[in-house]
Amino acid sequence: MNLKKSGTVLRNRNHKKSGTVSENHLIRKRNVLNTLVPPSLVEVLKKQKYHLVGRHSAVKRCRWLYETLIHNRPCYKQKFYGIKTHQCIQMTPSLFCCTQRCVFCWRAQNGDLQIIWDETKLPEWDSPEEVVEGSIKAQLKILSGYKGNPKANKQKFKEALTAKHVAISLTGEPTLYKPIGELIQTFHRRGFTTFLVSNGTMRSELAKLSEEPTQLYISVCAPDEEVFRHVCRPQIPKAWEKLNETLALLPSFQCPTVIRTTLVHGFNMENIRGYTKLIEKANPTYVEPKAYMHVGFSRLRLGYENMPNHREICEFATQLASETGYRIIDESQESRVVLLSRLEKPKRCGDG
Ligand code: SF4
Ligand code: SF4
Repeated sequence: MNLKKSGTVLRNRNHKKSGTVSENHLIRKRNVLNTLVPPSLVEVLKKQKYHLVGRHSAVKRCRWLYETLIHNRPCYKQKFYGIKTHQCIQMTPSLFCCTQRCVFCWRAQNGDLQIIWDETKLPEWDSPEEVVEGSIKAQLKILSGYKGNPKANKQKFKEALTAKHVAISLTGEPTLYKPIGELIQTFHRRGFTTFLVSNGTMRSELAKLSEEPTQLYISVCAPDEEVFRHVCRPQIPKAWEKLNETLALLPSFQCPTVIRTTLVHGFNMENIRGYTKLIEKANPTYVEPKAYMHVGFSRLRLGYENMPNHREICEFATQLASETGYRIIDESQESRVVLLSRLEKPKRCGDG
């Protein structure tokens, strides 16, 4: 985030309320940001084109936004679920914080680049309204880069200016943001559909969501506790137990649920039986085994050879299908992902 700019925004926002209390509040807010993460991390993220929103949220252009506007190639979630790629905002309310340090994660983690901070605490938070408003503005800023681009599809660009979907998934664990239910509600009130992606270690937060997302993803990237420790590297006690409790909670959700498994060659592609037990416990609407992609900060931890190819993902999905009784109902070769479900075809939640 541009800290000076952010300060300006905050100043303007508080202008009408000028006075000692408001100024003290503003100073306290700035201090919180300064102590939350080192400025060097903020600089690195800005260079990586994260558009910081307030003190702990961010929007980043999804690669597929570019692909759909310029090459008419939407993301696999448009194919599977009807989400319009060009009208989707990829954001997080928890940019710096997560309860895990997955080896395959593309986010900057404590210790990467010798930058140290506490990843498990979000000491104060911006209001859901601020996060939603800031995210929409950030997306418009991203889109302004395509204005006048002769290669951009004009109709799609026009539609993109009114975003309709938000993927609360960019980086970090979104349920560390306490008002996560209110954030979802605020997006819904403004006509958005929402996909929430959680690592499932904050069962109590998911259990008390004031509003369900349009679709809930839980990442399950290990078939057992030993692999979980090695691959997901939890930073809180009893994370495996908490994930299992979340899986047991999943059938109580009304919205479609998804178990997302990021598969890393040489790390977590064995023990189909272990995955099957977890899927049986959660009984999700969908299962999405997907290949690890060698991008972002994960390149500091893994090699190119850790990316499975699509054939390997299909083999994994086929074994999973025969163990669980789920059917393979779709796939995307370019994203190296397969969709399994007990349904004949996925529910289209992005239409209309
Ligand atoms: S749904 Fe995901 S992959 Fe598709 S455009 Fe949105 S953020 Fe990108
Ligand atoms: S849970 Fe998600 S955000 Fe957290 S470290 Fe793992 S992949 Fe990254």
